[in-house]
Amino acid sequence: MKKFLLLFLFLLILGRTEAAAAVQKVPILVYHSIEEYHGHGSKELYVTPENFEKQMSYLRNHGYTLLTFEHWQDRKKVNKPIFITFDDGYKNNLNAFAILQKLKTEQYKPTATMFVISDFIGNANRLSKADLKKMADSGLISVQSHTATHPDLTKVKNWTYELKESKEKIQKITGKPVIALSYPYGNSDEQVVKETKKYYLFGLTTTPGPFSETGIKDEPYLFPRTYVKYSTTLKEFMQVVEVK
Ligand SMILES: [Zn+2]
Repeated sequence: MKKFLLLFLFLLILGRTEAAAAVQKVPILVYHSIEEYHGHGSKELYVTPENFEKQMSYLRNHGYTLLTFEHWQDRKKVNKPIFITFDDGYKNNLNAFAILQKLKTEQYKPTATMFVISDFIGNANRLSKADLKKMADSGLISVQSHTATHPDLTKVKNWTYELKESKEKIQKITGKPVIALSYPYGNSDEQVVKETKKYYLFGLTTTPGPFSETGIKDEPYLFPRTYVKYSTTLKEFMQVVEVK
């Protein structure tokens, strides 16, 4: 009897230690173009609308909560938090917007973040001011900054233009706060983080993997993100989002 009691206590302690050690992992995904690939640019930066819809339906059917960075703190309160992001502000992101609207239900509010390059807004293959306003007004899309001209930030000098003015330009279009920056090419260093901190609450890299809090210095400015590619199968997608 005593042996069983000891074993029971041992298992109880083991279980508790494991629970305490379990750090929440939050996937942050990054997409670029949501369109059929017609031979322009890098194929892996495209995801077909069909695949994107399957991926977002998967999240809906498996109880995920899609968050945007205004609600970063909610990750601790909701079921299966995940962040969907888009870089570069391509016009074809309207396809993604249409799919998210289509999948929306009472229970599933598929929100996402679009990181746009402020100087490119309204260019031929990019989202226009009216597109951005419409998406922001829908409540599904948070429009955030991907700088003014898409430079490698580790090599720039005109911080005010790239970080501050791009933020202000986007805020003027949407009427909503810009609080997150995605670094072009995912590149950042200590100086980039220092400058980003002046204007933003979050900075996003393209270092793969889910976010899990470690408490390192400047952690909110070094968020990892995982690419979803043209070649990503639904099975691979499931593995990326199924974080334990
Ligand atoms: Zn980019």
